Amino acid sequence: MQRTDSVAMLKTVGVQRLKQLHALGIDTVEDLMTYFPRDYEDRREEKGIAELTAGQSNTFVAKVLAAPEVFHYQKKTVIRARVGDEDGQVTCVWFGMTYLKNSLKVGEDYLFTGRYEVKYGKKQVLSPSFEMASKKDPLASGHILPIYPATHGLSQKILRKLIYQALEETKNQFPDLLPKKIREQYHLCEKNYALQNIHFPEDEEGFLLARQRLVFEELYLLQLALFSMKEETMKGRSGIRLSPQPGRQEAEAQMPFSLTQAQRKVLGQIEEDFVSGRVMNRLVQGDVGSGKTAVAMIVSYEAIQNGYQAALMAPTEVLASQHAKTFSEVLGPLGVRVGFLRGTMKKREKEALLAGIASGEVDMIIGTHAVIQSGVAFSALALVITDEQHRFGVKQRVRLSQKGQDPHVLVMTATPIPRTLALILYGDLDISVMDALPTGRQQVDTLVVTSAYHERVYGFLKRQMDAGRQVYVVCPSVEESEKRQTESVMQYGTYLAQEVFAAYRVGLLHGKMKPAQKEEIMVAFARGEIQMLVATTVIEVGVNVPNATVMVVENAEYFGLSQLHQLRGRVGRGTEKSYCVLISDAKNPEAKERLKTMKATSDGFRIAEMDLHLRGPGDFFGTRQHGLPPLKIANLYRDMEILTQAQQAARQTLQHKDELSKEQWQALEQWQKTAFTATDVGI
Ligand code: ADP
Ligand code: MG
Repeated sequence: MQRTDSVAMLKTVGVQRLKQLHALGIDTVEDLMTYFPRDYEDRREEKGIAELTAGQSNTFVAKVLAAPEVFHYQKKTVIRARVGDEDGQVTCVWFGMTYLKNSLKVGEDYLFTGRYEVKYGKKQVLSPSFEMASKKDPLASGHILPIYPATHGLSQKILRKLIYQALEETKNQFPDLLPKKIREQYHLCEKNYALQNIHFPEDEEGFLLARQRLVFEELYLLQLALFSMKEETMKGRSGIRLSPQPGRQEAEAQMPFSLTQAQRKVLGQIEEDFVSGRVMNRLVQGDVGSGKTAVAMIVSYEAIQNGYQAALMAPTEVLASQHAKTFSEVLGPLGVRVGFLRGTMKKREKEALLAGIASGEVDMIIGTHAVIQSGVAFSALALVITDEQHRFGVKQRVRLSQKGQDPHVLVMTATPIPRTLALILYGDLDISVMDALPTGRQQVDTLVVTSAYHERVYGFLKRQMDAGRQVYVVCPSVEESEKRQTESVMQYGTYLAQEVFAAYRVGLLHGKMKPAQKEEIMVAFARGEIQMLVATTVIEVGVNVPNATVMVVENAEYFGLSQLHQLRGRVGRGTEKSYCVLISDAKNPEAKERLKTMKATSDGFRIAEMDLHLRGPGDFFGTRQHGLPPLKIANLYRDMEILTQAQQAARQTLQHKDELSKEQWQALEQWQKTAFTATDVGI
């Protein structure tokens, strides 16, 4: 049998089973063998009857000595069966399960698992589970047995049998895709041994070796595919050379503050890329409020000063418009012409702007991702910046380079991504970390209260506004539909505006508003004309109003940790003491844990780590959204250490490609084909 054969070739697979296996995504023998257990059942602790421990569950093999008896005791049906081995005898007792009578055959050996008790001198095992035992059958007693994730009507027993059979029939047929050198260097076991031991481990060590090896292989292949894809897309491209000076100095002089050490460091790294002749692919991680916008402005100006254009993409129009304003204020005096591409623009206005971008009249183009990516023609684009963790994927790069552009790319995010994971998500990306906030920043005091505190919170908000400060009140996306969400913000906002805070200037902001309306509200809030902004999470990312000192989050349990951290980051941006009030009546332990974390720390890296921990990597990154292929055995969070090694190994391999066998290349190509069709990975 070949590993590529259909599972229909296996003896006991008929039409029905074929269907069931297909439903599990299993078509070939190889699919079956890479259908990995989710857990194991340790059946090795088998004892002789003389060794049973009273008061706990025991597993033992014994022969049924006499036909089971059925009798009634206090209206209950009781079944008793006398069983024994060479050294002793014991009675198995079941309650109410009359049908068992016929399942146990006299003279047969069974494997029993159940609680052993000695009462009034009687030795009994209570309601044991049992199955036919045969010492020679590896799928019964004395072994560690696999438990598979879903079975679609197939029992664990049948799956075990099928996989066992497949393993037997394809013995040692699997070519080892890992180069021998790498296997030796990382102490990895051989492939066939790993397959055998992941399903039917000889012992703990066998299992650990097998898992290590298979996880390594999976991550290694994934990484190799990503690296080589990146290499492919970068082939023959050279980066636009940009001289940082005098742009750097001029732009820096425009800043109303002096740069932090962290900002200088990151600027230095970007400038190194600019002069290198390579295309920059850099991720800048900087906690909320660390001043990423200033860095973006300076490097944009450097590109523009060299005679090129720069583009900045933001996830929301509110944020894009704020950036457009800031960039105009700071870079305008240096002669930079900023163009803000809105989703809704008058046709004429838009045409004029697009013409300006195409002719090079506009130097700095700002807009949402959607707007900038939809076929804007640039005259000489040298730098693309995406704000707040939106990727600029391979597809967009290719599209741009087809138009003769090969810009440097900078991704800015407040969500710290562990380097190892960033490599998976973004390909071979360089990472800069802004690890310090501007000095003089106030620590934001965080309070977690129940809704019983509403009156007191309102009183506090009034005192803050009376003192000249501004406040945010955020309502979550409790409702499924956007319409309902909007309604709830409108209702609650109206209540606050008309009843509680009638004497104050309250503004409402929600997703259903036209961009122009949103902008109007944001501008009014930034100017201080609105004192209280009641909003959905549209204000979550990036909004910067330094005079705002309180962030109230209603139903805080509905927000993820990173979201809460982002929301809290909207305050504490000026010199005044700031507060974050999280209101929640949640009882659910995980939600409580999140709120506790918020109270305990303001370190974005720790919060992200906790978030990753609570939610798992799939959820955290939206694996699907990122176009990551589904992993069969590796867990990106738990297996971080193996991932690091696999990445090293993949780099090594790419440097010595000639050492790969034909089969290894084929496997690699197969991986790319199945894993990345229709996805857009990396940068
Ligand atoms: P983020 O990194 O979250 O995008 P911003 O770029 O919005 O942060 O900056 C947050 C605030 O810090 C802004 O008001 C900005 O003007 C200010 N800021 C940035 N850099 C400095 C600095 N070096 N010193 C003082 N304030 C700074
Ligand atoms: Mg920002």
